[in-house]
Amino acid sequence: MTTPLVEMDGDEMTRILWKMIKDELILPFVDLKSEYYDLGLEYRDKTSDQVTVDSANATKKYGVAVKCATITPNVQRMSEYNLHEMWKSPNGTIRAMLDGTVFRTPITIPSIHPAVKFWKKPITIARHAYGDVYRDVEIKANEPGVAKLVFEGENGQREEQIIHTFKGPGVIQGMHNTDASIRSFAHSCFKYALDLKQTIWFATKDTISKKYDGRFKAIFEEVFEEYKDAFEKAGIEYFYTLIDDAVARVMRSEGGFIWACKNYDGDVMSDMVSTAFGSLAMMTSVLVSPDGKYEYEAAHGTVTRHYYKYLKGEETSTNPMATIFAWSGAFRKRGELDNLPELVHYADELEAACFDTLNAGIVTKDLANLMEGVTPVVKNSADFLKAIRENLEKRLA
Ligand code: NAP
Ligand code: MG
Repeated sequence: MTTPLVEMDGDEMTRILWKMIKDELILPFVDLKSEYYDLGLEYRDKTSDQVTVDSANATKKYGVAVKCATITPNVQRMSEYNLHEMWKSPNGTIRAMLDGTVFRTPITIPSIHPAVKFWKKPITIARHAYGDVYRDVEIKANEPGVAKLVFEGENGQREEQIIHTFKGPGVIQGMHNTDASIRSFAHSCFKYALDLKQTIWFATKDTISKKYDGRFKAIFEEVFEEYKDAFEKAGIEYFYTLIDDAVARVMRSEGGFIWACKNYDGDVMSDMVSTAFGSLAMMTSVLVSPDGKYEYEAAHGTVTRHYYKYLKGEETSTNPMATIFAWSGAFRKRGELDNLPELVHYADELEAACFDTLNAGIVTKDLANLMEGVTPVVKNSADFLKAIRENLEKRLA
């Protein structure tokens, strides 16, 4: 390695897995160069969350980070960890600082069949994470009256429209988005499509919402001009359609593409797609900024329930796949950026060793019931990692 990887440690069961993964699958094989940030809740509290900000800045500087799942504190965590403040979600802080988009992809294996029988390859969902209904304002009208939409520009633009003349009670909702945020989203999407060499779909309802959704469509078209040639060279496409048409097509597709969604569509569709593919423990996630910085992680949380069992000395069979793939994704990206084919090779072989293990039926408990056509052999986390290590050693020998 030439450039350090930004390493963000985390909480609970995933923090335990983090160390196990490093000891079994990384340190014996890679001369790891990382800049370590402890995003465990205790240290976040101790530094008044400065460590989260520092880790995001390091990601801006070096370009590639790998993150362990972290606790987002709530009232109960305040007392459990004796916190000075209810710190914000680290993922939210990092995403805001990098202005990034999150892409979620399932890890698929032949013995776990997606609920949708046509799906043969993973579908990656990209959700626009700003605005629309998530930053709306709402009014409940309790009597007859007029609702108006008014814009007062700083330089004189003034527009006023009647939303509705109420004859009785009703509800009103106002929402917004910004060109800057939509543009960042578009850049992240096109960059990541080129990375994966996969076609990207985007859909809105611009036939009905001509100005609002129409603006999304127009900005995507405009930004795509910058990527058109690279897409042609990579043999991939940008495909725009209406959201209802997209949903119908996704169901009949084979998968193997990225589906970019507006905020609400992404919220709903990502839960549908990930559930249909099988297991939260097999879902990877990467944050991509519009200027090409990457933060890899698992989509699941810190698996608290397993951690409490672990603390009692009980054996746990927590699935480390998504966290391993966060590491392999980060190594591959680092290798590509720094022109280190050996590091890219290691990342490929690490993932292949995981598939060797799963395809032989060696799995953690969460997957056992999902498998068809293979008799599963359930292992605890430590033995599962040992089995992967054996396969990795064979591959790298
Ligand atoms: P979670 O950690 O994702 O776990 C929910 C349940 O899903 C687990 O109890 C377990 O089911 C199953 N599961 C998830 N990952 C698994 C794995 N790798 N192997 C096996 N089973 C797995 O969600 P949560 O319990 O709602 O949240 C726990 C903490 O994580 C919270 O403090 C939350 O703030 C945080 N969180 C962090 C992130 C992040 O950093 N990206 C994301 C989400 C949540 P069973 O109990 O049935 O075995
Ligand atoms: Mg949701």
